[in-house]
Amino acid sequence: MTTDPSTDRSTYPWLSVGTDHPFGPHHLPYGSFSVGAGKPLLGVRIGDQVLDVRAAAKAANRDARPYATGNLDGLLADPTLWGPTRTWLTQLVQDEAAARVLADHVHDIDAVTLHLPFAVADYVDFYASEHHATNVGRIFRPDGEPLTPNWKHLPIGYHGRSSTVVVTGTDVHRPRGQRKAPSDAGPSFGPSIKLDIEAELGFVVGGRTELGQSLSVAEAAEHLFGVVLLNDWSARDLQAWEYVPLGPFLGKSFATTISAWVTPMAALADARVELPTQDPEPLPYLQGEQAQGIDLAYEVEWNGTVVSRPPYRTMYWAPEQMLAHMTVNGAKASPGDLFGSGTVSGPDKDGRGSFLELSWNGTEPLTLDDGSTRTFLEDGDTVVLRATAEGVGGPISLGECSGRIRG
Ligand code: MN
Repeated sequence: MTTDPSTDRSTYPWLSVGTDHPFGPHHLPYGSFSVGAGKPLLGVRIGDQVLDVRAAAKAANRDARPYATGNLDGLLADPTLWGPTRTWLTQLVQDEAAARVLADHVHDIDAVTLHLPFAVADYVDFYASEHHATNVGRIFRPDGEPLTPNWKHLPIGYHGRSSTVVVTGTDVHRPRGQRKAPSDAGPSFGPSIKLDIEAELGFVVGGRTELGQSLSVAEAAEHLFGVVLLNDWSARDLQAWEYVPLGPFLGKSFATTISAWVTPMAALADARVELPTQDPEPLPYLQGEQAQGIDLAYEVEWNGTVVSRPPYRTMYWAPEQMLAHMTVNGAKASPGDLFGSGTVSGPDKDGRGSFLELSWNGTEPLTLDDGSTRTFLEDGDTVVLRATAEGVGGPISLGECSGRIRG
């Protein structure tokens, strides 16, 4: 018996990838990849392979222009394309008849270089975990109330630095700056001695609004394209000295790492859950049935040891509320805007998403599997974030968000 080469699954391995695979046809995250010295291309991941979306569109006589930017930018610009593109690709990666045509446009993950999946426009970082905010309040302001009076009335955030958002695998340079502990007579300058992580979820915005326009919670849901893993590297000693009264600045702007694959919100529809009870009731502009939590299981790995498993479903504010709040003053939303959720910390010690909390500001060292102890990051240390969820039709993985510290 002969095998028809057009449907031989050993020749076209992506055809065998099912919904039990965390990058199966129910997931299909997007990224930017290049082969050899070639230009970056928009890719969609299926199993352990990546499909060149523009080439596939050309082969199918579809309009390939939205996929020709080498990343997600073309797709982010036009939300009317999100559903049709996903429907097309879901069918395509399972289409035996199309396999022969696609073969030249599918590459093994190990054979490609991954880039930032989109050009980051504005970058904002929120502070949406009540447990994280409470822990930080207790550490930084031991004599006051842990939560500030505004915390349950609005999603608190600050504007970060979009040009220092980097893709997973990029080394992180230890920042230098000023610090002054309360007991120090004056400030000193040097490399940060309290370099930390913040395990977060990043939300990718598409479409645009004009100056003066605001997005309701329902409209915000239509502008949320997808999610990435996000590590908001933080120099706690710099931050503690600089953050009053205008918030974080140089203690966070030196690097923010995101994962290489953007998971569409559509793939996470079954992972949406009720928010924790919001009491007091938020103001009307922050209300809407689209404001929901997300059930994502995180893993924080430090030099190969899993030190924390933060639960995203405990986050107080929904991404739709964060985006509505971000535009309520008439500020624009643009394709490629990125906002972080804030550190994901659950109620238990083993669910804290920063080393500040895990080591209680350095007073309770952690022991790693190799026997070494840590409070904050040392040169050469590597941190990897991972997260999984029950997606629509099967389990999904958000991939990895990793970085190594350089002195
Ligand atoms: Mn943060």
